[in-house]
Amino acid sequence: MISKPETLDKPMPLICVVGGAGYIGSHMVMLLRSLQYRVVVIDDLSNGFQSSLADAYLEKGSILDSVFLERFFSEHAVDAIIHFASSIQVGESVKNPQKYYKNNLVGTLNLLEHALAHGVEKIIFSSTAAVFGNPQYVPIDEAHPHEPLSPYGKSKLFVEQILADYELAYGLRSVCLRYFNAAGASACGKLGERHDPETHLIPLLLQQASGRLEKFSVFGDDYSTPDGTCIRDYIHVEDLCTAHLLALKYLDTGNASDLFNLGTGKGHSVTEVIKTVEEVTGNKLNICVSPKRPGDPAILVADGQRAKSILGWQPKYVDLKDIIRHAWSWEQKYPWQ
Ligand code: UDP
Repeated sequence: MISKPETLDKPMPLICVVGGAGYIGSHMVMLLRSLQYRVVVIDDLSNGFQSSLADAYLEKGSILDSVFLERFFSEHAVDAIIHFASSIQVGESVKNPQKYYKNNLVGTLNLLEHALAHGVEKIIFSSTAAVFGNPQYVPIDEAHPHEPLSPYGKSKLFVEQILADYELAYGLRSVCLRYFNAAGASACGKLGERHDPETHLIPLLLQQASGRLEKFSVFGDDYSTPDGTCIRDYIHVEDLCTAHLLALKYLDTGNASDLFNLGTGKGHSVTEVIKTVEEVTGNKLNICVSPKRPGDPAILVADGQRAKSILGWQPKYVDLKDIIRHAWSWEQKYPWQ
């Protein structure tokens, strides 16, 4: 009898996407499912939306709930975790650090504890450019010193450091991906950015363009940048998801833990983003200038070279117009289901 090649019998890995109903998580779930991965989502729906999951399998619950996590990992033989769930507002984290250390740090420790007890060996962790604090140079590479300015940035840095210890002690391998400014929406038009309250630049500008927001406030126009407004590195959400997929494959092939900065390497000022939104939407925006937002560095631009050379990552959407075009299509679908 001729035996079948081993790969034919092997089911696709089961990926647990924590925070899979949120902005980036839901795009990740869509990508994994399009590639036939088996996916199970953990989300408490505090910031995510079940409708963003299409028919992906959801286990509704919190990573702060040990009873829930224990049952979850007993019932699902998870091969790898992609962990997106966290509180993400820098300003709020300064006013309410307890919430950030609880959700981002204690929640992650709980998740790791139960995952390890059930033999999970791989995790991709959503980190952030906020681990660097005020840049000492740009573009920011992985060797840049870490001096986070907010409890949000600190909570992410602590987890990065914890993951390094867990690899040494327990063999849990991880990839930490430090996002610069996630933006845009799925090219197919099914998913997009959806926060409540919305605080991010591009969705707010598009809300102004569509008439949902009366006026847009630029937070400071006297930064030491060419036009006085802050410069950021906007990266398309689908490019971020591709990087997670490559990180997963990187761990699957037996590599040790690593960290990567994810950005296009190209910065755009708030004024440039406003102009591009006006161009894409064909609407003149109603703009005013407000005081600087505490903790906003003048320039944050990534050196994404390491992710390119080691993971083989190549961002597809390097033109800001494409990011805004996709986000505009999504905004025009409001109210979302
Ligand atoms: N920004 C602004 N007005 C707003 C929201 C954001 O001027 O209502 C600016 C903000 O100061 C920063 C840039 O837009 O320079 C991107 O901010 P966002 O909150 O989108 O992302 P962050 O850089 O904080 O992660």
